[in-house]
Amino acid sequence: MTGPDAPCDVAIVGAGIVGLAHALACARRGLRVVVVDRDARANGASVRNFGFVTVSGQAEGAMWGRARRSRDIWLELAEAAGIAIHQRGMLTAARRPEAAALVEAFAAGPMGDGCSLLTGREAAARFPQLAPGVSAGLLSPHEIRIEPRDALPRLAAYLAAAFGVTFLWQTAVTAAGPGELLTSRGPIRARRIVVAPGDDSTTLFPDALAPYGLTRCKLQMLRVRPDRPVLPHVLMSDLSLIRYGGFADLPEAAALRSRLEREAGPQLAAGIHLIVAASRDGTCVVGDSHTYDSTPDPFADEAIDRMILAEYAELLGEAPAVVERWTGTYASSAAAPVVVAAPCPEIRVVTVATGAGMSCAFAVAEDVVEELDL
Ligand SMILES: Cc1cc2nc3c(=O)[nH]c(=O)nc-3n(C[C@H](O)[C@H](O)[C@H](O)COP(=O)(O)OP(=O)(O)OC[C@H]3O[C@@H](n4cnc5c(N)ncnc54)[C@H](O)[C@@H]3O)c2cc1C
Repeated sequence: MTGPDAPCDVAIVGAGIVGLAHALACARRGLRVVVVDRDARANGASVRNFGFVTVSGQAEGAMWGRARRSRDIWLELAEAAGIAIHQRGMLTAARRPEAAALVEAFAAGPMGDGCSLLTGREAAARFPQLAPGVSAGLLSPHEIRIEPRDALPRLAAYLAAAFGVTFLWQTAVTAAGPGELLTSRGPIRARRIVVAPGDDSTTLFPDALAPYGLTRCKLQMLRVRPDRPVLPHVLMSDLSLIRYGGFADLPEAAALRSRLEREAGPQLAAGIHLIVAASRDGTCVVGDSHTYDSTPDPFADEAIDRMILAEYAELLGEAPAVVERWTGTYASSAAAPVVVAAPCPEIRVVTVATGAGMSCAFAVAEDVVEELDL
């Protein structure tokens, strides 16, 4: 076995953001940590996302608090682990009057703290990249955007170098019980175990996860190279406002939803909304769509990509050249945005069951590790 001879304090299954967040929370407490992943490097949802650490728009209450705490930890790590912050802040550019009314209501409420509301004219003057027709803008200063495909390897390297976290790559965990993981390379002994399996709810502890009714959400994503620089902030559109709980749960969302049902049926059916997240190399990650199935097919539907690019063109004037396309999946549950199952006192199974793991994992991990009583 390639793992440590003596039992470690905590063994973590999964080297996506949720597993790494638990490794960080444990390592910061001086605990001896082993992370095991079946792949040679993180290759799941955690490297396929926008790297958009979203605060404004998270559902009021626990998720909003987790996002603010996690954003602060990302900022600490940016410094310590050399993770670049590619963008700061978010602009939601409302075009329909119902969307403008919704962002106004959000800005006036408790979660609007620190956000500013722009009239259409102010938004156009401040962001000339926007196509005509924006009726209001919500500018939130709370968000950051990192490039996940760079950030995940850097975070793993930092955990190994700064805290001595051991990584066992290309090692599948086949079973876990109190004090021990069974892996494809032999057993690992550990006082506590955290399973962070992403959207795999069938390999380990399926019975403990069953009450949450987990399924998978499949998303289509694109990387584009616009001819001219886009905004300094992550950009979202009217369609985004009915997807994010912080907006969608407000009473003003009902009017926008009805109008979108009349005007954007195909987009709603494919779960499309717009996020444009820029990278320092001049490209942008653009998406996305949401369809649900226990085993989503791996195929990217061109009609969906075209609708995403049309939404982009509506906000930014023209559809850009596409340089990459991919799909990703994440765990999804109608029962809870974050699932923490306890099959026995020494083990926790943790999955973020909504598309917000990059925004909340660090805070979730702090709570789980605190409760594991190490
Ligand atoms: C396209 C897309 C866009 C998104 N955009 C955003 C965004 O901008 N902001 C945001 O906050 N969230 C976003 N999300 C959600 C976010 O990416 C996820 O919530 C998060 O990455 C989940 O992290 P994870 O560690 O649980 O899963 P994963 O990253 O999938 O990692 C799970 C790991 O566990 C390993 N594993 C599982 N079972 C075993 C086993 N038995 N043995 C060994 N290894 C095992 C897998 O190999 C994998 O590496 C997005 C998701 C997708 C797919």
